[in-house]
Amino acid sequence: MAERPFIVGNWKMNGTRAMLPEARAIDRAAQRLMKVEVALAPPFTLIHAVHKEVEQIGVGAQDCHAGEGAHTGDVSAAMVADAGAKFVILGHSERRTGHAEDNGAVAAKIEAAMAAGLRIILCCGESSETRDAGKAEIFVLDQLRAALGHVEDAAERLTIAYEPIWAIGTGRTAKPAEIAEMHAAIRRLLAETYGEDTASSVRILYGGSVKPDNAREILALANVDGALVGGASLTAESFLGIVHAAFDDETS
Ligand code: PEP
Repeated sequence: MAERPFIVGNWKMNGTRAMLPEARAIDRAAQRLMKVEVALAPPFTLIHAVHKEVEQIGVGAQDCHAGEGAHTGDVSAAMVADAGAKFVILGHSERRTGHAEDNGAVAAKIEAAMAAGLRIILCCGESSETRDAGKAEIFVLDQLRAALGHVEDAAERLTIAYEPIWAIGTGRTAKPAEIAEMHAAIRRLLAETYGEDTASSVRILYGGSVKPDNAREILALANVDGALVGGASLTAESFLGIVHAAFDDETS
């Protein structure tokens, strides 16, 4: 695991102001677990409120638009930064499939996020059909190749999240060997693209049904530097179970 593992909660389209006490509880606990970087990506409507509520943890957005101006219903990178976001999740499979975002759209969003001074969490991951066809690695690396050239200062601003689509929200996690193989392949691609030093400082998160009871095993794998957590980030209790797994691993 990285020197400072990164555990990120993606609240997706969940949360009203009634969830602010969960953010506060996560923040209080994170203040005692400084060896782990903890962050939340609430929906757009809560970014500012969560940002005001917390002291220690990072706050980010789940997406942003690549442009600005006349795009009804969209939110720009500059606007999420102004609301308090320090990072943005880009290329999540729910955006790629639910909003037809292709690699070109993700690249344009990366450029907008860079211009707004945001860090990015760049998601990649294959469908079960692609995995069954033996093409998972080539697919994921192609997704990343299309994106990495648009990132500035990768060492400081890039985090990758490998999230096999079939493991998201399904309760099915990838097998340890599948995770370790994909993370190693991603690390090699990072080294080819940016050189060894930068590659070793980019954190590669795993996402897909991470829970308090499987986090320890996943986080102990080589090249797994943290987790992107959906369902289990919605209560402080379960999210902190995962943060603790990362903390104990670092301190043991
Ligand atoms: C996610 O959507 O990023 C995710 C990993 O969700 P879950 O933890 O619910 O599988």
